[in-house]
Amino acid sequence: MPTNFCRRRWYAAGLLATLLICFNSPAAKTNRTSENVTVVIDAGHGGHDRGGIPGQRISEKDMTLDVAQRLRNVLAASGYRVVMTRDSDVFIPLATRVAIANSYRNAIFVCVHFNATKRMGAGGIETYFYSRDSLPLASAVHYYVAGGAPSANRGVRRRGYYVLRKTNIPAVLVECGFLTNPTEGAYAQTASYRQKLAEEIAAGVRGRNSVTGALSTTRVATSETVPLQPYIDQTKVSSSERRKSKRSHKKSTRKKKSSSKSTGSEARYASTDPEA
Ligand SMILES: [Zn+2]
Repeated sequence: MPTNFCRRRWYAAGLLATLLICFNSPAAKTNRTSENVTVVIDAGHGGHDRGGIPGQRISEKDMTLDVAQRLRNVLAASGYRVVMTRDSDVFIPLATRVAIANSYRNAIFVCVHFNATKRMGAGGIETYFYSRDSLPLASAVHYYVAGGAPSANRGVRRRGYYVLRKTNIPAVLVECGFLTNPTEGAYAQTASYRQKLAEEIAAGVRGRNSVTGALSTTRVATSETVPLQPYIDQTKVSSSERRKSKRSHKKSTRKKKSSSKSTGSEARYASTDPEA
């Protein structure tokens, strides 16, 4: 009996030690994911497609690639399988980007872009999604990126961009600020800020399953929950309307001033990201 008792005590001590080792292992400390998810990262533009607007000083394609590569490193360190639609300065057609995304099962698609407009004062972070399945991901990515950036929050927006419409996995497109805005452009040109953007996008990827529903927005968000971000539906804007607002810049500006700061109507002509 005493021998058995001893053995049991040794067994219990061994089990406890194993548990302690498990909890203190580097894997546990770095919060490695147990998710079996592939993250397809899409760096906007590339090659002859510089992104942005004509004459833009800061090249969007270089900024998106750098943030995408940093995002890959952050997510890979957390244990995610990561695929890049491009990993160098090459042009990849939108259909190819979509085909890459759709070739993975149990995957999510994250497009990284920066915004541009002729109006230098325009700034802020906006996140786009199209399918309902993509809303939690858009909500979480936007919550972290807009929360971590010193820029205005332009909201989560639903719009039928090609890469969002044609992908059959949860897909988001995050516009990480305006490169035509002097302050946001200066931030984007620092490696530490691009690293911060990558980390915030990664936090959104990790937190996408913790987005709380519309009914619980009154509850206090804990570190484990991400409040659902209110969004603007821009899918109802007809292409003729969009052309009209692009043509008559003055008219849109007047309209915007009269409509109490509607970022939605502004974005119709201010966001000039064609990729999307
Ligand atoms: Zn872009």
